[in-house]
Amino acid sequence: MPAEFDLIRRWFTADEWPANVPLGVGDDAALLDVPAGQRLAVTTDTLVCGVHFLPDVSAHDLGHKALAVNLSDLAAMGAQPAWVLLALTLPSATDDAWLEAFSAGFLALARAHDVALVGGDTTQGPLSITVTAMGFVLPGAALTRAGAQPGDGIYVTGTLGDAALALHLLHEGRIDAIAGGSELRRRLQCPTPRIGAGLALRGLASAAIDVSDGLAADLGHILERSGVGALLHADALPRSPAFRACHSEPDTEAWQFALSGGDDYELLFTLPLARESELAARFAALDVGCTRIGEIVADAGLRVLDRDGRELPLARRGYEHFRNGA
Ligand code: ADP
Ligand code: MG
Repeated sequence: MPAEFDLIRRWFTADEWPANVPLGVGDDAALLDVPAGQRLAVTTDTLVCGVHFLPDVSAHDLGHKALAVNLSDLAAMGAQPAWVLLALTLPSATDDAWLEAFSAGFLALARAHDVALVGGDTTQGPLSITVTAMGFVLPGAALTRAGAQPGDGIYVTGTLGDAALALHLLHEGRIDAIAGGSELRRRLQCPTPRIGAGLALRGLASAAIDVSDGLAADLGHILERSGVGALLHADALPRSPAFRACHSEPDTEAWQFALSGGDDYELLFTLPLARESELAARFAALDVGCTRIGEIVADAGLRVLDRDGRELPLARRGYEHFRNGA
């Protein structure tokens, strides 16, 4: 049997399929049943070696992250994840240890959210991973980037800046030497998609996005699509214990990890202040918290104020491919 089919059967084919997958991996296409009355939310994201991850990252974490970043996009739409496709470009098909770890990381996260891997593509070339994720959402219930109103509060789940700080410490070669280093590394390499939070925000958030390119850049997308501006309070940005251990009183440079760092995979959303108690009630049942970090204003633009009311510069924008015309 050709190595390609052997590999697919061995590492990426389930023994049983959920009822909504009449035909899974193995034919020319999968056959899927979308529940009556629901819409399909579809998203895709690619991770390229050397651009999105370091060549020495563990295969298990890479499998997890490739799926997590896609589930994060579904979470930001308020969609219930159901199915994924995996297009894998591998330098070699013979590295069983790598494939076993990659598939374990990918499928463990898939199982945790009842997501079925229903197909994909396997090719040879420089390591690159593309996942397409599909989920369900009722018509009219999806969370979009448009809809934020002046006076709405701005909220974020979890903590910000951990992944960017981890990347910085990895580059400096001192992540293992600091307290909380392993937690920061986990936040960079093994992010948690906020699926429960996205579902809890349906019918409540006026706008939502997941933070992948950095808080300022991703909030900018909400502002643009909603036709509003925002005021953020740097002091309110939620920081993890590990982040605080490194930067108890962040300076202008340290604030940039939380404001512009990226790879956070938290949900950023807005809602009327009058509905904040509903928000608290819904989040009480979740394993992640949320924090109000600012407010939507009518005037366009994003301003960030420090504790003393001074405006903080937004030094770096989020990561953009092709920014330099390449
Ligand atoms: P085709 O040549 O018709 O495009 P492939 O040989 O690419 O088919 O794939 C055979 C079957 O295996 C298909 O059902 C496809 O969706 C599935 N598949 C291929 N690669 C993967 C993968 N990495 N993970 C899961 N399913 C895969
Ligand atoms: Mg075919």
